[in-house]
Amino acid sequence: MYIATMQLYKTQHLKVYNSLSSTKELFEPINEGHVGMYVCGPTVYSNVHLGNCRTFMSFDMIFRYLRHLGYKVRYVRNITDAGHLEDDADQGEDKIAKKARLEQIEPMEVVQRYTVDFHNILQKFNFLPPSIEPTATGHIIEQIEIIKEILDKGYAYEINDSVYFDVKKFNEDYEYGKLSGRKLEDMISNTRELAAQDEKKNPQDFALWKKAEPQHIMRWPSPWGDGFPGWHLECTAMSTKYLGENFDIHGGGMDLKFPHHECEIAQAEASNGHSPVKYWLHANMLTLNGKKMAKSTGNNILPNEIFTGNNSILSKAFSPSVVRFFMMQAHYTSILDLSNEALLASEKGYQRLMEAITGLDGLNTGANSDFDIKEWRQKCYDAMNDDFNTPILIANLFEGVKHINLIKEGKEQLSEEDKKILIETMNSFVFDVLGLENKNDSGKDSEKLSGVVELLIQLRNEARANKDFGTSDKIRDQLAALGVQLKDSKEGTTFSVSS
Ligand code: AMP
Ligand code: ZN
Repeated sequence: MYIATMQLYKTQHLKVYNSLSSTKELFEPINEGHVGMYVCGPTVYSNVHLGNCRTFMSFDMIFRYLRHLGYKVRYVRNITDAGHLEDDADQGEDKIAKKARLEQIEPMEVVQRYTVDFHNILQKFNFLPPSIEPTATGHIIEQIEIIKEILDKGYAYEINDSVYFDVKKFNEDYEYGKLSGRKLEDMISNTRELAAQDEKKNPQDFALWKKAEPQHIMRWPSPWGDGFPGWHLECTAMSTKYLGENFDIHGGGMDLKFPHHECEIAQAEASNGHSPVKYWLHANMLTLNGKKMAKSTGNNILPNEIFTGNNSILSKAFSPSVVRFFMMQAHYTSILDLSNEALLASEKGYQRLMEAITGLDGLNTGANSDFDIKEWRQKCYDAMNDDFNTPILIANLFEGVKHINLIKEGKEQLSEEDKKILIETMNSFVFDVLGLENKNDSGKDSEKLSGVVELLIQLRNEARANKDFGTSDKIRDQLAALGVQLKDSKEGTTFSVSS
């Protein structure tokens, strides 16, 4: 691998789409050669769905490419284990406390269960671990310190043992809404009046600290009494602690732009006096049936349901690498819709890519090369330098596959020196940058398994048609004993394999 030591960033000029300026900008980190990146992590109150995975995968790819360019990256991705209320506008129960109440377990049991699930899923998708994975509950003291700072500067107020950020006051000195392109005046004229029981001065104000009611179990002592921090505050506390008051990249899903990231900017500016982040990067949503995948609406699919085929949406199981390849075929800022057809097409593409890569070492070489390998390599870099354009990168990799196949057929030749570049480039982009794994053999195995099970389903149907229920039940039961479940419906019989 020619990573890290090469300082490729000196010759490969990366541009990123900055949501703050709404333009593509040349990426120039605050400290040359070093990148600080913070990404909002999951709220661990249920299993991560595939939509969540898409956002984290986009930033895994970005982390991988920055490292590939030779940057020393400190990547911080937090775990939200307190403070995220059901409603983003400071209403409702804490999501984790609610789950704990419903399941009659400790909130920290909820946190542990779903943090483990999150890590398991990310491992299956071949994610690189972040450099630091801090938790909100581990940083209560830091959050209290920031609240004190904001109160001192006059941009927050205490009321009934809670503390709220004073958006109107802040907007007199700074600009609230600059990330999401909103104007406070418009927000005010478009919002409802405060309800009588509301203790905020204005609906736009948000909680920095909430008083814990007697039944609230997740509580900490503070100068304002027992309570818990507001959701937006943890990210300001943890990013500042590990990356400083000024850092390079802040990422998250598009849906976090407002209010979460807007509030993060306001908190940092109110306490430190300056903008915290140089480049704001936002990943777009994964949709299902054209609608955003979300936990709350039930319009989602879990990664394990895809890996086992145990779901009502897809015709078969798909491996984590195929799903990862599917995600990488779309630009991270575009909406991507999940469908059976799209996954089937991605599986074919992934297999074609892996077949070309398998056995590259044994590729015959000739005296000269029939194509310009360095130009091809630069096209791969150009794609990634253009705001991490993975679909264009993949198109270029398939250009490489075309040449590999022509060489294998003896219709083109490649010099020994160029072959080294070809192998190195393919490996770097496919495995290091896109994070794919060569599971070609297991892909073939699963194809064979599908073929065998389909054959048994056919034999079972024939047995049933002949009223030979002994044989048909035997096929079903013995497959079940092997972990292959048959499901009969009006449309026919499908199967799933337990993991
Ligand atoms: P949460 O656990 O709800 O805080 O979400 C964790 C991350 O997943 C956030 O960055 C969200 O923006 C992101 N996210 C949620 N739904 C989707 C989706 N359908 N597609 C892509 N990212 C999503
Ligand atoms: Zn956050």
